[in-house]
Amino acid sequence: MSKTLAFQAEVAQLLKLVTHSLYSNPEIFLRELISNASDACDKLRFEALNNAGLYEADAELKVKVTFDNTAKTLTITDNGIGLSSQEAIDNLGTIAKSGTRDFMDKLSGDQKNDAQLIGQFGVGFYSGFIVADRITVESRRAGALAAEGVRWSSAGTGEFEVTEIERAERGTSITLHLKEDAQDYLNAYKLKGIINKYSDHISLPILMEKQEWKDGELLSATDPEGGRQPGGMVKTGEWETVNQAAALWTRAKKDITQDQYDEFYKQISYDSQAPLATTHNRVEGSTEYTQLLFIPSKAPMDMFNRDKAAGVKLYVKRVFIMDDAQALMPTYLRFVKGVVDSADLPLNVSRELLQESRAVKAIREGCTKRVLGMMEDLAKHNALPAPSEDGVTDVISDEDKAQVGRFDTFYAEFGAVLKEGLGEDFANRDRIAKLLRFASSTTDTITVSFADYKARMKDGQDAIYYITADTLAAAKSSPQLEIFRKKGIEVLLMADRVDEWALNYLHEFDGTPLQSVAKGAVDLGKLQDDDEKKAAEQAQTQFKPILDKLKDALQDKASDVRATSRLVDSPACLVVQDGDMSTQLARMLKQAGQAVPEVKPILEVNAQHPLVKKLESTTGTSHFDDLAHILFDQALLAEGGMPADPAAYVKRVNALLV
Ligand code: ADP
Repeated sequence: MSKTLAFQAEVAQLLKLVTHSLYSNPEIFLRELISNASDACDKLRFEALNNAGLYEADAELKVKVTFDNTAKTLTITDNGIGLSSQEAIDNLGTIAKSGTRDFMDKLSGDQKNDAQLIGQFGVGFYSGFIVADRITVESRRAGALAAEGVRWSSAGTGEFEVTEIERAERGTSITLHLKEDAQDYLNAYKLKGIINKYSDHISLPILMEKQEWKDGELLSATDPEGGRQPGGMVKTGEWETVNQAAALWTRAKKDITQDQYDEFYKQISYDSQAPLATTHNRVEGSTEYTQLLFIPSKAPMDMFNRDKAAGVKLYVKRVFIMDDAQALMPTYLRFVKGVVDSADLPLNVSRELLQESRAVKAIREGCTKRVLGMMEDLAKHNALPAPSEDGVTDVISDEDKAQVGRFDTFYAEFGAVLKEGLGEDFANRDRIAKLLRFASSTTDTITVSFADYKARMKDGQDAIYYITADTLAAAKSSPQLEIFRKKGIEVLLMADRVDEWALNYLHEFDGTPLQSVAKGAVDLGKLQDDDEKKAAEQAQTQFKPILDKLKDALQDKASDVRATSRLVDSPACLVVQDGDMSTQLARMLKQAGQAVPEVKPILEVNAQHPLVKKLESTTGTSHFDDLAHILFDQALLAEGGMPADPAAYVKRVNALLV
């Protein structure tokens, strides 16, 4: 029985894109198909843990790559888990991955861009259509009857055909009918080269049939001569393993090149760029495990989704257990990719068990320290050492040169996520704090560390001052900075959404307290001389009548109105009490649909400002009221907020204008 079905709309669209965007690097199809075959074997091994019968007396898992010069086909066969009819329809006709729609929307039509995005998304099976004008899949699921085989076939346009077939062998064969311009893949030497490049680390053996010259001289599939004259070779019926067939992380570090690490990374991450940093270690002691971890060069599209799958795969004694094992990495390091292979966990470990396991806890702590160490290393090598004063400059290695700017790249991509660690990982809070970088009122680039800041603090300054706002521009022009600017005190500017939340957890850096300039009363401590302090105190009493009047007019909006020495040019600004949520964070949470306790801000007034003088001389309650509200709403606008009743605000201002 056979039926024809239509691809899910997204698949049809993806197929078109795959063939149009990836033609510049067609050979990756082989990597993708071998990787699928390897996954299928991993799945079988995993299911067989509880049901050894699934091996059907054939427990030697492997992948075979064969080709047929006459039929112009290339076939990748595995004896893994296989597909039932329904699975073939579901898995090869639809894309189950979450975020497919979003992904499609991001595609721009620009081939270079799209190729990169598609690379990130992972095209998998469909990449076969880069080189094939028809793909035929034959499969039988492990444990099913021979009569329950399936043939799936498609030309990669709108539809595919599914037929029930008889198939004795378990697993899947994928046959590519090669396009006219892709027939150079009918060549053992070329295939072997591609397997070497992309799939050497696959832990299963990848087999190819040995070939020999027609006149009898035996040559292996790896011999270049074989590749030049494929017609002159005949198959021998003997098979040879053409990859290393040892999982990369199990091999000794010294035998692995950075290119091999990069290739492995690309394969597990779907990233087309090499990673920024790599670490590979065997950890011995009370818990034994191997870690091979990478920091990517680029953040994925959905990085700010904290529920997103983490990137570390768990193996137990080389058996694949699960993807994205969240328990192995804290959430704030969810961008790290790699593999952990443990000798101490049971093979049938479940996600629930992982959460409770002491070994897993030790692994997570170890991995976290490693990754922080990688970041520290990137930071250390971010800039070349300055020439020493005696004019003798150390010779700088190429390796060091290649590291320059990597931390900047890292930080631009992942800095905001790293900050979550302040609230999440108390044990490493100080290490994380040292890695953070900010813009400041005197430095536009996001390069100022707390240590840099401290080194530049003024005599008598006893706090690290910072401000949070919606954007760096808003932070920089915030009225709260005026007094600091006047006194030449640097203020760190923060505009990541996570900043205020994260900074809540960091009260001090290296003994110096952190102080938001938008919270509490300004207390510049020793930075203010006695005259200034006296003037500030006097202002409170001198302007009490007008402050009280304002307080009265604004009782619905402001919890208090007071004079301030914070302002120089602006008439007013809003602050909150120490410990309260800033108006900016409250706004953000509200936008995100969260319930926020209503905190009325304090209106601080610059008593020296002409506008305040004008208020003093204003008679008539309704006119005073209007001015008071304008003063408040403008303070709100100045920090990126929105008047509660914008129309009323406009009306009041217009009344002043005409
Ligand atoms: P991905 O591998 O990223 O899930 P693919 O498009 O490569 O996406 O494959 C889709 C699905 O088809 C896989 O998830 C798997 O269920 C199934 N599949 C692909 N190749 C094989 C295979 N060789 N054996 C068994 N199932 C396979």
